[in-house]
Amino acid sequence: MFDKILIANRGEIALRVIRACREMGIRTVAVHSTADTDAMHVRMADEALCIGPPAASESYLSVPAIISACEITGAQAIHPGYGFLSENAAFVQVVEDHALSFIGPSAAHIRMMGDKITAKETMRTLGVPCVPGSEGGIEDLETARRVAGEIGFPVLVKATAGGGGRGMKLARDAGELEAAFSGARSEARSVFGNPDVYLEKYLANPRHIEIQVFGDGKGNAVHLGERDCSLQRRHQKIFEEAPAPGLSEAERARIGGICADAMARIGYAGAGTVEFLYEDGDFHFIEMNTRLQVEHPVTEEVYGVDLVREQIRVAAGEPLSFTQAELTPQGHAIEVRINAERLPDFAPRPGLVSVFHAPGGLGVRMDSALYAGYRIPPYYDSLIGKLIVHGRDRPEALARLRRALGELIVDGIDTTVPLFHALLADPEVRAGACSIHWLEDWLARNIEPEPAAPQA
Ligand code: ADP
Repeated sequence: MFDKILIANRGEIALRVIRACREMGIRTVAVHSTADTDAMHVRMADEALCIGPPAASESYLSVPAIISACEITGAQAIHPGYGFLSENAAFVQVVEDHALSFIGPSAAHIRMMGDKITAKETMRTLGVPCVPGSEGGIEDLETARRVAGEIGFPVLVKATAGGGGRGMKLARDAGELEAAFSGARSEARSVFGNPDVYLEKYLANPRHIEIQVFGDGKGNAVHLGERDCSLQRRHQKIFEEAPAPGLSEAERARIGGICADAMARIGYAGAGTVEFLYEDGDFHFIEMNTRLQVEHPVTEEVYGVDLVREQIRVAAGEPLSFTQAELTPQGHAIEVRINAERLPDFAPRPGLVSVFHAPGGLGVRMDSALYAGYRIPPYYDSLIGKLIVHGRDRPEALARLRRALGELIVDGIDTTVPLFHALLADPEVRAGACSIHWLEDWLARNIEPEPAAPQA
């Protein structure tokens, strides 16, 4: 087992990793930019090293700075958290070339799943059900027209290098295809530096349900059920829960089994998430994330396991600490992502937090790096905390979430807490099983100002 781990991240996820390390008796190294000198992860880690200026490209994304920090401190392994370098295959290669361990999958698996065309082809071959679409990339409009005709409109043109909901354009009919095709290609080229796109059937009313998988890198893999992350704004999840409302044990076992089997066959190591759109009882694979997800705590709550500890064990060559038969979900968990943003327009609102009080009590977990007197820097993501609740069933989890939100105090900045109070009062949220479009429609009716007329 490692003696010392460097965490190449900040905020709540850096604390999350420090917590797992501390319970395992592993020393931790925090790295930080000059904007994060006062950040909580710097205080909590055993050692801290400043690695650059505020811009993430010169600090949290600086591969030479992070590798040097390992050499200076003697850290043997790097936990990347999520975002930043967590899905960067070239970084993993550099880590391995320096005889350090990357706490995550191999560079080859990150590359395989990071390219969505390759990911879909691989998953289809492994028997994972996929969204109907083109086989491979589409290079010209003529082919796009022919394939769209075969799969039927509406279709989505998606960037193979896409992420964060970027590089995706909808064509409702043949007349919209040309604009969607060229629009997706140029966005893909400018945002991701790779113009390759593919076509996918646009599903009208699906839910987003993802499967948590875990492999030991030696041909064994398990699944830890699903998370329903259908409440999304601009393709960003804000409310996640496990289990997915209405999903039967048989459906979970079937899709979970397919995913675990696929991971075992490719020899996957560590945590991964296989994302699906779920419509009319069918799962359709869209992409795989080869890292720990923001929403991993809901799985930890219902399965009672520490996923970060498991990641560290696997990276150190140890076997998984559970078998599939030992994994049974208990009760219901919900997470809400709280951002430093002002409603109704969700404008980022960093600033000085004058008072901070985290909720507590039975079944309540607050993963946050906030403290009173902390000035949130303007350079990074606006996520300031995740409030996670666990109850015996969904109604209990909902009641607990409402109670816990009421206890949370964050003074001095605007947050998205009022949005969750409003959502929890909505009968459709309370009933569960909303589609991926539900929140945008709800926001348009309840929160967001009238959108400006599109420019011709
Ligand atoms: P990204 O990597 O940018 O997050 P994904 O492929 O995971 O892209 O898709 C993000 C979101 O876009 C999904 O959660 C869903 O809301 C929507 N989406 C993606 N593919 C489709 C599809 N074929 N039909 C309908 N919605 C889709």
